[in-house]
Amino acid sequence: MEFKNLNICIEIQKALQDEKYSTPTPIQEKAIPAILSGRDLLGLAQTGTGKTAAFAIPCLQLLQNKKHNNKMQKYPIRALVITPTRELALQIYESFNTYGKYLPLKSAVIFGGVSQNPQEEILKKGVDILVATPGRLHDLMNQGLISLSEIQYLILDEADRMLDMGFIQDIKKILKKVPEKRQTLLFSATMSKETQNMADSILKNPIKVQITPVSSTVDAVKQMVYFIDKENKKNLLIQLLKEENMESVLVFTKTKHGADRLVKQLGKEKIAASAIHGDKSQGARQKALGDFKNKTLKILIATDIAARGIDIDELSHVINYDIPNIPETYVHRIGRTGRAGQTGIAISFCDHFEKEFLKDITKLIRKQIPIVEDHPYPIQNTIPVEKQPRPEPRNKTKESGKRR
Ligand code: AMP
Repeated sequence: MEFKNLNICIEIQKALQDEKYSTPTPIQEKAIPAILSGRDLLGLAQTGTGKTAAFAIPCLQLLQNKKHNNKMQKYPIRALVITPTRELALQIYESFNTYGKYLPLKSAVIFGGVSQNPQEEILKKGVDILVATPGRLHDLMNQGLISLSEIQYLILDEADRMLDMGFIQDIKKILKKVPEKRQTLLFSATMSKETQNMADSILKNPIKVQITPVSSTVDAVKQMVYFIDKENKKNLLIQLLKEENMESVLVFTKTKHGADRLVKQLGKEKIAASAIHGDKSQGARQKALGDFKNKTLKILIATDIAARGIDIDELSHVINYDIPNIPETYVHRIGRTGRAGQTGIAISFCDHFEKEFLKDITKLIRKQIPIVEDHPYPIQNTIPVEKQPRPEPRNKTKESGKRR
């Protein structure tokens, strides 16, 4: 299968050639014809499957083919993509620009945490495609700066994460302002009851496309776990970073504070690393991400929410410095490596308290993660779990909550 077999216009095909994309990924193969045929779509796919192009390509093509008849506005917003984080919003916006570079369509991106003035200016000139995080979109709508009355294509990306982050009310209010007659696409990595309810309420007779079920971890990723006491994790990390040939490493910590502390500890060992998390300014995050992407920075330390949507093609290693208490998060994390056919390595450091979380993870992925027995910091603390303080409740993420 090639892109030209998917009835994609020549302008988009040319842009894809520039990107050196030769064949569509499985989700693209299934979703592009479905979307071009005008159907609503429920896409169950993680980041790394090529899902952004799977909706951006047909959306661009449909917009190009179908002219609008709004006499008042040259560029009314006709396609709206709602996505949970700024990083993801930026990446989707860039994807629309990349695949649509030979088309006369205009796009814009809006997200919170930065001044709204430049975003307002761009919106005033008019855009065909708007990529937005829910909070800022809702704010600008309330101020009368955005009209969604001409929306023909509505895309909800990473719906599960938007619900996790508490955006449901913003989304409900946004949906009220979008015309009933539209084509709607909803993408989600996992399908909880809440996500299913949302899908049921906004999609009409959708085609369902499922790519990597969350329970089957990306096969291209080699997984391993080290059992280790919490206080030794830092030493093991330093040793691995010094000895193993790691090209680009994304290290996940549970807290923002933990990420910052690790950067300092590595700094003392002359290992350069940067942290990204919700307390960092947008500029600092983008700089760290930029350096990481262009390989001037080898080690990036992130919390889950900040890392959501990071799109790096050749990430060699993911290290779970802390084991996530939500098993799906493990799947999201390790999906950062082993992308687009590359092999990746996912290393987890598990202390005694985290063994329960690891059990939940192996249950979800339905396989045991190989244990590295031979290492210099074998676990000493083996007091039975019931005699120790309980780990945090499972439904709590350390860095959750709305961001505007
Ligand atoms: P996504 O799942 O949208 O985050 O995409 C993951 C990565 O795959 C991105 O870096 C895309 O640039 C890349 N990608 C998407 N489609 C293709 C394709 N057909 N061939 C090669 N790479 C692709």
